[in-house]
Amino acid sequence: MFLREETKKRGSKWRADEFWYRSRNIALMASLCLLLAPSSRAQRTQLKAGWNFYSPQDDIQLGKRVAVDAERQLPSCNAPKVEAYLTELGRKLIAKLPTGGVEYPWEFHCVNDKEINAFALPGGYVFVNRGAIEVSDNEAQLAGVMAHELSHVALRHGTTEATKAQAAQAGVGILGAIFGGNAGGALLTELGRFSAGGVLLRYSRSAETQADVMGTQVLYDAGYDPRALAQFFEKIEAESKGKNPPEFFSDHPNPEYRVERVQEEIGKLGGLPPHPKRDSLEFEAIKREVMALPVVSRGTVTAGGRIPRPMGPPPAPSASFVEYQASAYAVKYPDNWKKYGEKENVSFAPDGGVMEGSDGRGALAFGVIVDVTKVQGDVGDARALERATQDLIRTLQKDNPKMKVARQAGRIRLNGQRGLSTYLSNESPAGGEETDWLITVIRREGLVSFVCVAPTKDYEKYDKTFASILDSVRFAK
Ligand SMILES: [Zn+2]
Repeated sequence: MFLREETKKRGSKWRADEFWYRSRNIALMASLCLLLAPSSRAQRTQLKAGWNFYSPQDDIQLGKRVAVDAERQLPSCNAPKVEAYLTELGRKLIAKLPTGGVEYPWEFHCVNDKEINAFALPGGYVFVNRGAIEVSDNEAQLAGVMAHELSHVALRHGTTEATKAQAAQAGVGILGAIFGGNAGGALLTELGRFSAGGVLLRYSRSAETQADVMGTQVLYDAGYDPRALAQFFEKIEAESKGKNPPEFFSDHPNPEYRVERVQEEIGKLGGLPPHPKRDSLEFEAIKREVMALPVVSRGTVTAGGRIPRPMGPPPAPSASFVEYQASAYAVKYPDNWKKYGEKENVSFAPDGGVMEGSDGRGALAFGVIVDVTKVQGDVGDARALERATQDLIRTLQKDNPKMKVARQAGRIRLNGQRGLSTYLSNESPAGGEETDWLITVIRREGLVSFVCVAPTKDYEKYDKTFASILDSVRFAK
């Protein structure tokens, strides 16, 4: 199993009186925050975020970590035009979204999954399944579900729910970790994984109503037909009659009187806006493009982090390669493998190469992981490569307690650069032992690492492919 980015810290404990004092403050804060405060006049509903242990900066930091994990696990549409369209549509809505002055980074991803679903992580990392685009009759409906998601971000529902969950199981240790430690402490680590990130996406019915109300306001202000939000939900509900409900409802429970509440809000806004926008030629073109995308089998991971066991070993790696270009390097990988992640930190794996680890997280059993990590100190230092490699191995061992160095680092050259080659052994999520071949090179961007992963008993079958992948590496000049 190959897991990473996890450091466990224990929060310091407080004295009992201090704990009591802090708890009382929290109760006070809670009572001051009205969740839904409809005004007596016929005016739009004023919405405020609920009580929250986290700061908006924590939302961004936490969301980012979970988003990186989600990107690795979910198949991308690999359709830049579609993502550009989602971004443009998203930005139009964000312009009308009340975030209380917080600047979120906002990212929009298209997931190649025909299930009807969309979700937004704290901090503004939005994932829209192709299924949600395909089921939308027009741009306004897609804008409706997106406005609903963006409202969850603005109202900070993810960390509000996490706060409630943690308060419910509150021990001094947990609260100590929140207040005593910094934002990068144990809880962020705990939540900063996509499959564990479920708690950030399991909204209450009242959070759903709030997101509907704010979503309706945003649609209205952006000039769309605000009824489209309710129409989207009605449509997916009707489509699922007698079948499994769409995945969307497992994270976003359908509140009662959803349609009525949206109608009521439109009334408060003074009825429909003049000439409300429903559709665009662009939406129609994007929908056609999405419908023509290749269908990716739901082989590995679904949005809820459920990972079905694959049937049998992955197919043999193809001999023809495709290129991936990051900014620090370019690399080629077999054309029947998938890319997970973006920018500098990506993984390449065959179908069935990502499996469920012993703790229920997605774990790479077959494939290659590429990372660029920041290095402490001067990268020009003669010992920098050795030192950074040792640091990386120690970090990996924290995430993978069974990981051992099987063969000490030896010298190697990668695209003419001095590098180190280290063999590690670990427990494979496919069962038995795993071999991890780690290649590290130091560049001005930091330590570039390649980890070639396969179960030890199958390693021979992948050896040549791994060597070809490494041979193909080209560093940026
Ligand atoms: Zn929702």
